[in-house]
Amino acid sequence: MFENGIKPKIIVANWKMNPVSFKEADNIIRTVKNGIKISENVKVVICPPYFYIPNIKGGKSFDIGVQNIFWEDSGAYTGEISAKMAKEMGVGYAIIGHSERRMHLGETDAIVNLKINSALKNNVKPIFCVGESQKERDEDKAGDIISNEIEKGLAGVPSGYLVKDLIIAYEPIWAIGTGNTPTSDDIMSMALLIRKVITKLYDRKTADNLPIIYGGSVNDKNATDFVEKAGMEGLLVGGASLNASEFVRIVNLF
Ligand code: PEP
Repeated sequence: MFENGIKPKIIVANWKMNPVSFKEADNIIRTVKNGIKISENVKVVICPPYFYIPNIKGGKSFDIGVQNIFWEDSGAYTGEISAKMAKEMGVGYAIIGHSERRMHLGETDAIVNLKINSALKNNVKPIFCVGESQKERDEDKAGDIISNEIEKGLAGVPSGYLVKDLIIAYEPIWAIGTGNTPTSDDIMSMALLIRKVITKLYDRKTADNLPIIYGGSVNDKNATDFVEKAGMEGLLVGGASLNASEFVRIVNLF
């Protein structure tokens, strides 16, 4: 994370289950590769659907991530793909615990925990998503929800060399794909809480070094505020990452 003393901002593109053809995916990749300025200030990670990965070469422009992994390395798990396989394919990152998987696929904190442990063991950096729903926020439960997700998600993850590869993405569920976003103050308080939980689980140094990124309706107009005003160390970009020119503009802001 610290090349030449610089801690780069991590900009992650989550394409979700899009686009529907490799031709479109290839167009996005070409525009991104031609458009982004390679800089030691930014680390770009593109997370496409699995199918496209063998045909996407990031070179110096970006790394590849997956949107999910299974927790065993291999075996009778029809339809699943392991962190070990992802690593074999040159994948460096895995989004784990995205709220869409928690919501639509029944992913529990216990499952998220198994996946985080497996990713770390296979040298795949987990982008561990946590966030509260609108209802939880209205009931003033956001802090408890996030603390609980982190404590359960990191159970059994040893300190030191494994936990150092972790990235936490604060993604309020109510902000994903809605155009609504938290204030900088809200994000800063959540980041503080996340660092407190990590300090309790590990130590202060681990908490200070942990990259916390923000996701939820990021676009080229609001991206700078999340980093400069709210102090986030990167962004998880969903919808806007499928608009290649907008994604390029976001990356080149940093
Ligand atoms: C996401 O998918 O993680 C996300 C943040 O989506 P969007 O940017 O579209 O809100």
